[in-house]
Amino acid sequence: MLDKINNILGSDLTTDSAWAGYCNRKNHVALEGQKIKQKSGPRVGIPRALFYYHFFPQWKRFFENLGWEVQVSPPTNKAIANEGIAEAVSEACFPVKVHYGHSLYLSRQGVDLIFAPRLISIERRSYICPKFMGIPDMLRAQIKSLPPLFDISIDLSQGSRHLNRQLRQWALETGLSPHQVEQAWQQAERETDYLNSICRAGFRLGEAIRIWEGHPMAKKGPAALNIGVLGHCYTLNDSFVNLNLFGRLQEMGVNAVTVEMADPDLVHKAADQLPKRVFWTVGRDLVGGALVYDRDPAIDGIIYMTCFGCGPDSMVAKVIERRMKKPFMLLTVDEHSGEAGLITRLEAFCDMLRRRRDRVEDNISPHGKFSYSH
Ligand code: SF4
Repeated sequence: MLDKINNILGSDLTTDSAWAGYCNRKNHVALEGQKIKQKSGPRVGIPRALFYYHFFPQWKRFFENLGWEVQVSPPTNKAIANEGIAEAVSEACFPVKVHYGHSLYLSRQGVDLIFAPRLISIERRSYICPKFMGIPDMLRAQIKSLPPLFDISIDLSQGSRHLNRQLRQWALETGLSPHQVEQAWQQAERETDYLNSICRAGFRLGEAIRIWEGHPMAKKGPAALNIGVLGHCYTLNDSFVNLNLFGRLQEMGVNAVTVEMADPDLVHKAADQLPKRVFWTVGRDLVGGALVYDRDPAIDGIIYMTCFGCGPDSMVAKVIERRMKKPFMLLTVDEHSGEAGLITRLEAFCDMLRRRRDRVEDNISPHGKFSYSH
């Protein structure tokens, strides 16, 4: 895995000093970005929700390349979540309600526009959950004091020509040079490759964004238990939504790994073993990641965190659960979930994994079947 990152970054990151140097280099890149931010231009708000965790560096660099100022909403807190819950349609899943809360926060900050892309597809032959398509319309319908939205459609299932047409159209409407806008987008796309390469060095997306912003972070050492954690990026990287799942696991002596840390080729190859292709981008990664964890002897167990009301997960989680041979736990959270219930389940799961690893007990249940088979 590190070989691949080293190829991308052109240095050997296997030593601590090389890693520190890499963090400093990223710090320098981030500072360069801040210099561009000094130029006066409209202020665009980016909600810290949904695909912020996949694309923030790219989106930020795009606007900065145009000389625009970027404002991000703060990490989710109770006030932001409650406001989103109050405004959003009740059928929406928790992460969409949280996105409402962030958009409301930004609309009060006097930003000139809010970036709310209509995400349809981010790769060929695969799609994003349909709720992403409706985000701009839902925001407009529900929030009265909303500033203008930059709601460009991103549908890469049709190739990059569709996106370029959208960018040119937006440039003409905004009075910018279409060539400049296309160039700004193409340059910014490299930031997503950078972000992914940081993840593959063993960091979750939220941590990788912090490193990209210039905050050096220590590499994690070995732990007593290794658990593969599955879930959507906006659930796993928002500690308010996931009830501080990773903090809790760390306290319990667990090294938690997530799909973005794995080699994407391995993940896709594993997902392709299913008789039918999963056509949701994130669902496919989760299936592939689960199958990789299931075969990896270093992984003791698997946790899947989903949000109540998630349509794609109601199918993907079941497909995964039925195929797992290792201990598997499904955690469902929503706006009513409490930390106490989560801690109890995590403690019981980790306890079971320790006993199983130390062979204190076998895998035969009182009913005479393997306790983790289906
Ligand atoms: S995939 Fe699930 S959690 Fe994500 S936006 Fe769609 S319904 Fe909500």
